[in-house]
Amino acid sequence: MNHRYFGDALISKYEDVSIIFPDDSTYEKTRQVYNRMHDLYPSMIIQTLNRAALKEIVSFVTANDIELAIRGGGHHIAGFGSTQGGILLDFSPYNDIVIDENHKVARVLPGARLKDVDDALCQHGYVIPTGTVSDTGIAGLTLGGGIGWLLGKYGYTCENLVGADVLLATGALVRAEDPGHEDLLWALRGGGGNFGIVLEFRYKLSRLPSVYCGTLEFTENDVEAALSDLFEYLDNHCPSNLVVAPVLHRHKNSMECMLSIDFCLSDSIDYSEIKNLEEYLSQTIKHTYLTSDFLTWQSWSDERFAQPMRGYWKSVCPEIMGENMPHLLTDWQKRIPGPNCSVMIEHLNPSRREKSGVESALAIKTMNYGILFSARWTSSSDDAKYVSWVKSAASSITNAAEALSYSNYTPDEENTKSSVFSNSDNRLSFTKKKYDPLNVFRRNHNITK
Ligand SMILES: Cc1cc2nc3c(=O)[nH]c(=O)nc-3n(C[C@H](O)[C@H](O)[C@H](O)COP(=O)(O)OP(=O)(O)OC[C@H]3O[C@@H](n4cnc5c(N)ncnc54)[C@H](O)[C@@H]3O)c2cc1C
Repeated sequence: MNHRYFGDALISKYEDVSIIFPDDSTYEKTRQVYNRMHDLYPSMIIQTLNRAALKEIVSFVTANDIELAIRGGGHHIAGFGSTQGGILLDFSPYNDIVIDENHKVARVLPGARLKDVDDALCQHGYVIPTGTVSDTGIAGLTLGGGIGWLLGKYGYTCENLVGADVLLATGALVRAEDPGHEDLLWALRGGGGNFGIVLEFRYKLSRLPSVYCGTLEFTENDVEAALSDLFEYLDNHCPSNLVVAPVLHRHKNSMECMLSIDFCLSDSIDYSEIKNLEEYLSQTIKHTYLTSDFLTWQSWSDERFAQPMRGYWKSVCPEIMGENMPHLLTDWQKRIPGPNCSVMIEHLNPSRREKSGVESALAIKTMNYGILFSARWTSSSDDAKYVSWVKSAASSITNAAEALSYSNYTPDEENTKSSVFSNSDNRLSFTKKKYDPLNVFRRNHNITK
């Protein structure tokens, strides 16, 4: 049976199935993912939450060995939110969120963006720790981990996942929190979309903390020394209620080298944590206060990432920074090839995070730091220049070959399969074989062994 015939049969059988075919006027816009390096043409784009129809789709792609892409927000840098020639299951129209106050749980549909979640929860005084750019999809963010401004206080997004409805390759619909599926819930927390189609995510609700957000900025000759002081502070003194995001970049007009340390301090009595940080940095500096409104802060960085462009990212998660790291990173900063490139450092801080006690498959959960080299640009003729800067910078990091990468920031290349999951994690391979032995769900950082 060809794709078109299958699609037509599906629409005539189910009222709540929409299919966008290549000759439809909305196809061009809908097929696109955030990273324009991935110019992919699915054979059709199906939008539905109808469980019977979804079972038929899974059975059709399995029987005909068709690649199935599943899209939440379509933000993954590897273009996993679409497929060349396969079938795209696009959940982006489905973004409802239900707050269950009795069980302190939020039920979230798979097309919700971070903004949808924050808007629904914050007005009731609740929050789920998510990411820092508001139109990212919560689905992919959760399945890959989820790093954001409340990491120190509430952990990774995936550590707050307490349940999920999952359609398996067999066509069975299971609740991951039910007895007998503990391994599935564990695997969904960081193991990616390898195990099935998640039709509803259920998260623990946490109290919305008070926040105090701002930035510290350094330029040119001060950057390396500030970075050195900062790493020492983070290693030894940073409290769990302070999350900092240092970014090395170059000024968009002057191309001057800059270090911006954006921060989010939560539940502080007197903001003394920021004073301590300022005192620790050897240059005399005062922070700039930006906002105490969590919703405003959650979309503070949106403008920088608003426009879809061509993009290439690589992430390295070293256990320690090492003495030479500030010099190495600022050296790569000087070689940044264009205005939309940066080196972002994430302090993952496992020892000082308030312990969630939640077990997860997230490989980087024990790592201290993440370094993200990212480049965005517009013209395909510049691809080689930008990709080469990112690759060379990432591979220059000590032990980069063995270092773990954060799967949500990692492009799809041969050698990434082992770097995003811990090689020694037999439980992950075992769970993949148990739930998806035929590898129907493979448009992701795929667990192949
Ligand atoms: C501008 C920008 C900012 C970002 N900021 C952050 C940040 O602050 N913190 C952070 O941790 N990450 C961040 N990321 C990375 C982000 O977490 C990943 O790109 C993530 O995969 C996005 O999820 P998505 O649903 O939008 O992506 P998609 O591309 O739609 O999906 C990603 C993966 O998840 C799978 N998937 C999606 N939905 C389902 C489902 N229902 N069932 C099964 N599998 C599914 C897909 O098949 C795919 O493999 C950012 C990315 C961008 C582009």
